[in-house]
Amino acid sequence: MNIYDSEQMAIRLKPLGYKLVSFLESADLIIVNTCAIREKAEQKVFSLLGRLAKLKKKKPDLLIGVGGCVAQQEGKKLLQRAPCLDLVFGTHAAGRMPELIQQIEQQGCRMVDIGMSDQKNPIESIIQYDQNINISKFVTIMQGCENFCTYCVVPYVRGKEFSRKPEAIIQEIKALVKCGAREITLLGQNVNSYGTKEGICTFPELLACLNQIKGLKRIRFTTSHPKDLSDDLIDCFANLDKLCKHIHLPVQSGSNRILRRMNRKYTREEYLGKIAKLRKSCPDIALSTDLITGFPGESKSDFEDTLELMKQVEYDSIFAFKYSDRPNAKAAGFNDKISENEKRNRLQKILKLQEGFTARKNSLLTGSIQPVLVEGLSKKQETDNQHNSNNNLQWTGRTSTNKIVNFFHDDLEISVGSGSDESYEGKIVDVKIEKVLLHSLKGKLMRLSENKHFF
Ligand code: SAH
Ligand code: SF4
Repeated sequence: MNIYDSEQMAIRLKPLGYKLVSFLESADLIIVNTCAIREKAEQKVFSLLGRLAKLKKKKPDLLIGVGGCVAQQEGKKLLQRAPCLDLVFGTHAAGRMPELIQQIEQQGCRMVDIGMSDQKNPIESIIQYDQNINISKFVTIMQGCENFCTYCVVPYVRGKEFSRKPEAIIQEIKALVKCGAREITLLGQNVNSYGTKEGICTFPELLACLNQIKGLKRIRFTTSHPKDLSDDLIDCFANLDKLCKHIHLPVQSGSNRILRRMNRKYTREEYLGKIAKLRKSCPDIALSTDLITGFPGESKSDFEDTLELMKQVEYDSIFAFKYSDRPNAKAAGFNDKISENEKRNRLQKILKLQEGFTARKNSLLTGSIQPVLVEGLSKKQETDNQHNSNNNLQWTGRTSTNKIVNFFHDDLEISVGSGSDESYEGKIVDVKIEKVLLHSLKGKLMRLSENKHFF
């Protein structure tokens, strides 16, 4: 979400004459877009501001702004804490940011804007993309959250739930496709409740519309709340050819007692029931989740329940976090806190258990042929490029199940094009998986995938 928001900020700054640069030292204006989800993310902001203060000493005309969730949370306290700052703007002030910067440029003042927008006056994205953008792009379809999970800061810093109009989303995706995007990930704190409040259209209806966009090859979305995962959405995995075979479905804990204390509004049994339905609708769907260790009051047996659930589901991958108190979140006031040491031990146990599942799931793919949407040359390849001959390029992309695949194109079994300098970027190709590494797969190109995927 912050990647998308930062991109929107860059677009908004263009009319003021600002152009993105690759080095901090060459910037006249630095915007730090922040995340407040966990304590660690917030600490990172303050250590970066310490570094930026030193830069500003050497370059007094440098302007520094902080946007996003930490800005929303701290407001003018941030200006007091970081004297190097010129601007603090919250999650709903991104649209006003250019005016604020102009005022600072003209008057040399310091500014804070953490005002929230309302339903009548929502923030809308700016649709203005350059040619040759990345193959895979994000599009925010809704903002805010009203679920109030007891550990979470989001409802306090991102405000009320608000869904963008389907026409605006379609228009933006068409513009992105025109500029080179082939895969879109729809973003929201709770995408599967899209449109419910406004009564405009449901999330499955939106997906069906997007599935028809010409030139768009793949659709992903994140994040879904298990309580809002409807049968209609589950059916989409069987019926919509562009919808990728992957769902991120955060469970947080395997214990009903903890789920209740987290205010998640589903039980372990309901969650497992939805996983079973997903697997019935799409047998090879990949599953990932978020887990929190050491939520206040989490006993050894609650934690065992989480490990048991992991064994039952066998996720393809997980994100696991140590619980941390967040400002305003209800759990910050719970008094049965778990020690840092115990939270860390439980996190390690979870990660270790998952390592085995990830390795096993990936190893099942060895020898299989996977359609891969090629995102470009692999990072390593980009740096080595000068030293490499053209016919030994390493490409990178993802399977529909969201696994990274790196492959070479030199040992083709079936010739695919005019010559060795052919670009596969943005195409779906069939790759035979030959080797499984910890975080990626390695393979060799077989041929371009079925014509219906070809662009
Ligand atoms: N809207 C998404 C979650 C967004 S936050 C959802 O409901 O699934 C991403 C993840 O951060 C959460 O799923 C949770 O696992 C983690 N998280 C949020 N608050 C946290 C906290 N206080 N401590 C530790 N992890 C937290
Ligand atoms: Fe936070 Fe819960 Fe909303 Fe997700 S659904 S953003 S975890 S409050």
